[in-house]
Formats: sequence, structure tokens, C-alpha cells
Amino acid sequence: MARGRTSDDEDKAARAGLAAALRVGGGILQAGGAALDAVEAAVRVLEDDPAFNAGRGAVFTTAGTHELDAAIMDGATRCAGAVAGVTRTRNPVSLARAVMRGSKHVMLVGSGADDFARQQGVEQVDPSYFSTEQRRAQLERMHGRFDSGVKFGTVGAVARDITGRLAAATSTGGLTGKRPGRVGDTPVIGAGTYADDRACAVSATGSGEYYLRVGVAHEICARVRLLGETVQAAADAVQAETHALGGDGGVIVVAPDGTPAWSFTTPGMYRGLLRDCNAPVVAIYGDE
Ligand code: ASP
Repeated sequence: MARGRTSDDEDKAARAGLAAALRVGGGILQAGGAALDAVEAAVRVLEDDPAFNAGRGAVFTTAGTHELDAAIMDGATRCAGAVAGVTRTRNPVSLARAVMRGSKHVMLVGSGADDFARQQGVEQVDPSYFSTEQRRAQLERMHGRFDSGVKFGTVGAVARDITGRLAAATSTGGLTGKRPGRVGDTPVIGAGTYADDRACAVSATGSGEYYLRVGVAHEICARVRLLGETVQAAADAVQAETHALGGDGGVIVVAPDGTPAWSFTTPGMYRGLLRDCNAPVVAIYGDE
């Protein structure tokens, strides 16, 4: 996501998708809706948009398949739901929400998650629905050469609603050329996704193996809660720690008072912000 490595078409498509997600999620918040509903709805828009690596447009595994991961968390109750390695669910974030609401579990994986989706009436699609030519070309360019540093558009949302509740949600196809069965940080509560009304809500993107080892999302919340750091300071500190281990990526964060933060160690990160009645902000590159 550096200038010069992103085509005009990719740039335009990503900005349009981000603006649409802000409109949908922001509309829910402006109507007095819950943060949890807003993050789910925003992530669904991005999952349906082939410009992003989640839902339709997800990256391929080495086997030429798609294995989708997602998580959602409610900061007020610290209830959470997550799915990993699902292959037939159109909107994995909504399946994660169904796991949170309709099961006694936090995480379901693989065929058990897909079975649960069918039982819950969560929309199913043929796996070919997720495939796009652009992602297939990425796999062909990288074949046999998994690179945890190559990231393509995992999606996430954090929100604070009118009552002060926080929520976070994240959804991804993972990393191009991943081994079938590999699970990254995205669906792991505390790594790629976390929300706690006492601290903040966090959604992460990046080299999942490193984000898992640092427990990035929970670590940011812990610094805010226990050290009294601002969300920006906590996010920057944990990003620096992850970078020092060899992992790069970014996070979006929101505090209980609505203060937003983002922090990334990559040349760019797809991102957007909608705050009160201000105009939406959409950006990609580090210098924006
Ligand atoms: N964090 C995701 C994963 O490792 C990939 C990404 O954010 O691009 O699965």
C-alpha cells in the first residue's frame, strides 16, 4: 500500500469501499444504534467488496482455496465470538456474531463453524464466490513462497456509540499462500480483535504470526487501563514492540470518550474515520 505500488483503480476502489463502510456504520451510530451493530454492518460492507481481503476478494491458500477468519467483541460485556477457517459463509463477521449470541462458545473453526452457520441460517455461498482474478494472480506470483510480510486488506471496525459502549470487529482471508489450516491473529480475541469499555476497542491488521505473539489488541487495552496511557500512545508503543520482533501492520483504536487513534508500521493502511458530525476521513498512504 505504498504510493506507486497501488494502481489508480485500486486506490479509487478502496476509498469508495471505506467511504461506504463509514456511511453504513456511521448511519447506525447517528441513529442511536449500538456500537456492536455498527461494527458488524461496516465490516459486512467491506466483506462484500472485492477490493478487500475479506469475504469476496479473500486471498488464496497454497491449495487454491479460501479459509476465512473473523471476530467480534462487545466492550460493555466482554462477550465475544469468533470463527476461523470457514469456507462457505458469505459474511464471516455475522457468523462470529452468531457464535457470540447463539452458542455457549467463543470460537468455532472449520466445518463445525460452517455447520453452525447453516443451523443459524447465516447465508451460505459456493466457495467460488470468494475468488477474484486479482487474488489468483497474487497467489501465482508468490507460489511456494509464503511471506508473512505481504498483506492485502484485512478489514476491521471499531466504534463507540451514543451510550459510550465500545465494540470491535475484524475479518480476513488471512495471508496469501498460507498453509491450509493456518489461523492468524484476526479471529483470536486479544490478538487481532479486542474491546473493553474500561480501556478501548482495537482491530488489527498485519503479519498475524507476530500480532499473535504480542497479543496486540489486548496489550493496547491493558496499557490504557493499567498504565493510563492515551490510546495513541498505547497503540504506538505496541506497534513498535511488534515491529521490533519483525512484524508489521496497523491498528485502529477508539477510547471510551470517543478519541480515535490509528498506528501502522507499513507504508500505508486503508483507514477511515467518522466522528460526530464531521466530514468522513478516508486515507491509504502514510503521508495522508
Ligand atoms: N492479520 C491477518 C492475518 O495474519 C492478515 C492481514 O491483516 O492482512 O491473517
